[in-house]
Amino acid sequence: MPQSAEKILDHATLFREPEYKELFARKRALEGTPCSEEVTKIADWTKSWEYREKNFAREALTINPAKACQPLGAVFVAAGFERTLSFVHGSQGCVAYYRSHLSRHFKEPCSAVSSSMTEDAAVFGGLQNMIDGLANAYALYSPKMIAVSTTCMAEVIGDDLQAFIATSKQKGSVPADFDVPYAHTPAFVGSHTTGYDNMLKGILEHFWKGRTRTPNQTINIIPGFDGYAVANNREIKRILDLMGVEYTFLSDVSDQFDTPSDGEYRMYDGGTTLEAAKAAQDAAATISLQEYCTPKTLEYIAAQGQQVLAVNYPLGVSATDELLEKISALTGKPIPEALEKERGRFVDAIADSQAYLHGKTYAIYGDPDFVYAMARFVLETGGEPKHCLCTNANNAWAEKMQALFDTSPFGVGCKAWAGKDLWHLRSLLATEPVDLLIGNSYGKYLERDVKVPLVRLTFPIFDRHHHHRFPVWGYQGGLRVLVSVLDKIFDKLDNDGSEAGVNDISFDLTR
Ligand code: SF4
Repeated sequence: MPQSAEKILDHATLFREPEYKELFARKRALEGTPCSEEVTKIADWTKSWEYREKNFAREALTINPAKACQPLGAVFVAAGFERTLSFVHGSQGCVAYYRSHLSRHFKEPCSAVSSSMTEDAAVFGGLQNMIDGLANAYALYSPKMIAVSTTCMAEVIGDDLQAFIATSKQKGSVPADFDVPYAHTPAFVGSHTTGYDNMLKGILEHFWKGRTRTPNQTINIIPGFDGYAVANNREIKRILDLMGVEYTFLSDVSDQFDTPSDGEYRMYDGGTTLEAAKAAQDAAATISLQEYCTPKTLEYIAAQGQQVLAVNYPLGVSATDELLEKISALTGKPIPEALEKERGRFVDAIADSQAYLHGKTYAIYGDPDFVYAMARFVLETGGEPKHCLCTNANNAWAEKMQALFDTSPFGVGCKAWAGKDLWHLRSLLATEPVDLLIGNSYGKYLERDVKVPLVRLTFPIFDRHHHHRFPVWGYQGGLRVLVSVLDKIFDKLDNDGSEAGVNDISFDLTR
């Protein structure tokens, strides 16, 4: 074997050595894998219009959904509160998935515990798991709050969180006055954005129920489930500080998922303080930055007497304008000159690159607010968001997308696909190709398969590092999105002209 202690090969190079190639060939023969000609023939057929029609006729099967399950969103939103430990009532494997999903994206440890339900708890109920689990979590990890959500298993057998938590407190697992908000997050309904909404509403209900509201002039900001939250939250805070607005973030993961390496391990860092979460009931208004992440939470907040507003992921010029105008109207604070200048610079940058942006076609997928915002920005640049796909959206979202397309001549022929998955997107890309694909790391298989360059701009991004450390919101963030798209366009131009003397007519130094 080529591996040796003197020269350790990474798996990427090691498995290309002749010994491994032979081993893989023998494995294929043993498994009776069809010959490569047959594989290519079928793969090509699955890129045809005939197959596309069969693929879109599919009803009872989802292949590669562009979404995750509810508890992931619950764990994410709970991480944005001071010294809060997520406790997921259900099986260990599920919680390992949430932790690893968030760790792989943010390149930070993610702490969450489970009640470790196994076969006996699935039959007889998980009360004892909750009693023991809460006691252990409280004793071992010193949280200030434990936020309880559920996996499929606990929901299928119908465990009652309110009763279980009350019983656990009676049995002394945690002190009677210890904060244990909860939310049922059945994973077979909705997605991670639904789980975000349910858990946030659960936390607010926990703090606000029975408390008398004393209105003041502050505003609450709910960022929503966002893979760029580390930098985006900081960018929104910078903007609010420039405007002189008093605000409270309801769930702020920016420090929790960006702890420094200075010799001290921080299991908890930053987040909305529990006192601030309580006092947020007194705010004049709450703005959700992602409408589709917060329907139940906003309904609950509105019932408290607050004004509620929602935008759809403030990425791009008009989306940032809309947010700033809403904040200004709510608070009476003018938009400062510094932000107007940032806007002007952003518009200038788009104009500088117009020759390369105009008429480019795109496929976009991800969460409903992200896809809406990205399509809106593409239209602003003179591009055409041809295929916009969202697994965790409904027809109302598709209608809103169509209304967006109708606002621009570049929206003609664009279509929103609600409830479809990445295998549907493959058919769209194969039959109606576009210039660029915008989504998350899972799009790399589509990129290889249908040869459409991928721009990674949404959660999860596992195979590239540190994107989340730079904002995509606001005018400054928009610049970064613009550069990411342009880099991909220029890379493609260079790749298409990389053979000297053959096709390098546009292998230009200056563009
Ligand atoms: S879908 Fe259900 S089983 Fe799968 S990770 Fe989510 S909670 Fe666990």
